[in-house]
Amino acid sequence: MKVFGFGAQDADKELTPLVFDRKDPRAGEVAFKVTYCGVCHSDLHQVRNDWKNTKYPCIPGHEVVGEVTEVGEGVTRFKKGDTIGVGCMVNSCMECEKCHDNVENYCQGPIGFTGTYNGPGKKEDQNTYGGYSSHMVVREEFGIKVPKGYDPKYVGPVLCAGITVYSPMKHWNVGKNTTLGVAGVGGLGHMAIKLGKALGAKVVALTRSEGKKDKLLNMGADEVIISENKDDMKAAAQSIDVLINTIPVPHDINPYVNLMKPDGSIVIVGNLINFENVVPAPLVVNRISIAGSLIGGIKETQEVLDICAEHDISPDIKMVKMQQINDVLDTLEKGNDSDFRHVIDMQSLHDEIDSLQDKATQVKNPDRGEVVNRKAS
Ligand SMILES: [Zn+2]
Ligand SMILES: [Zn+2]
Repeated sequence: MKVFGFGAQDADKELTPLVFDRKDPRAGEVAFKVTYCGVCHSDLHQVRNDWKNTKYPCIPGHEVVGEVTEVGEGVTRFKKGDTIGVGCMVNSCMECEKCHDNVENYCQGPIGFTGTYNGPGKKEDQNTYGGYSSHMVVREEFGIKVPKGYDPKYVGPVLCAGITVYSPMKHWNVGKNTTLGVAGVGGLGHMAIKLGKALGAKVVALTRSEGKKDKLLNMGADEVIISENKDDMKAAAQSIDVLINTIPVPHDINPYVNLMKPDGSIVIVGNLINFENVVPAPLVVNRISIAGSLIGGIKETQEVLDICAEHDISPDIKMVKMQQINDVLDTLEKGNDSDFRHVIDMQSLHDEIDSLQDKATQVKNPDRGEVVNRKAS
C-alpha cells in the first residue's frame, strides 16, 4: 500500500514529506490508519544520529495509535474498525528465553527486537518506518488493545513514556511502602508521578524549575525538590528507595546518589549517552545500585495501558500538526522543560495527502522482517 510520511534523509536535514510502499498484511499481521502519534525524545536522538546507529531515511514515531483497516489471515486479536496501539517494537525472534518470558524488549535472538522505526534487520538495507506516517502494518502480537472508553489521543505516550517508567517500577517492586523519586519531569517523568501514585508509592519529584512546583503537586507528587537548591537536596538525603532518572541528556548523577536510602536503586531510563565522574564511595558504603531499564514487554505494555484506563490516568499532551514537526523537534532539542508530551494529530497528514502526491519524495520501502510464529515454537 502507498504510504505517506514525514522523515529525515540525513542527520542535518529537516523532516520532509516522503512516500513509500508498505507490504500488505501477511498472515498474522494487521494494517491500520494512524490517527495519533506521540513525539518522543528518542525520535529526536534518532533523527539527529545521536546514537550513531541511524539508518536513513529515518521516519520516527513509536507512540502510535490507529484504526484497523485490514487484517491478515489467522488474526484473532483485532478486527477491522478496532483501535490499535503500537509502541516501540514491531517484531522479535519470539523464540528466545526473554521472548518466552514476555520481555521481548530484551530479546536475545540474533538481531534482538525490531524497533518500530530504525529497526534494522539482518540485511544491510533493511529498515522500519514508524508512526509519522499515514498507515502502518504490524504483526498482531505487537499490537496493543485500547480499552473501551480510553481516549485514543492519550494512548501513544503510554506506549513509550508510560511503559518506560512503569516497567522498572514493577521490576524494583514499587508499591505502598516505597518512596519513589522521579528525576526529570518531562514526558516520562510526569507519567512516573501518576503511575507511582496509582501503585500506592510516596512520590518525590525532582525538577530544576521552581515554576513547576505547584503543577507537580497538583499532578499527585507528594513532595517536590528543586534539584539545583542545595539545601533542598541536603534535607532529602537518604530518603528515596527507588529513583527513576528520566533526564534524557548527560548530567551529574552524584547529587542523586546522595538522596538514596541504603540498598536504594537509581534506574536510568533517559540518558543512553554517558555519565561523567560517578563517585563510587557512596554506592559502596550504602550498597546503592545504578541500574538501567529499557521500555517494557508487550504484556506489560498492555498492563500499563489497562491501568491508565482503570485509574483514569492520562498523559498531559499538547496536540500538534504533522507539518509542525520540525519546530517541535527544535523545542525538544533546546532542552524541553515542558511537562507534557507533544502528540501529532495525524488527520493533519491525511488531509494533505492529495497535495503530497507530487511533492513527497519517493524512498525505498521498509521491511519489518519475517513473521515467526510463537505458538509453533
Ligand atoms: Zn520513546
Ligand atoms: Zn527473542
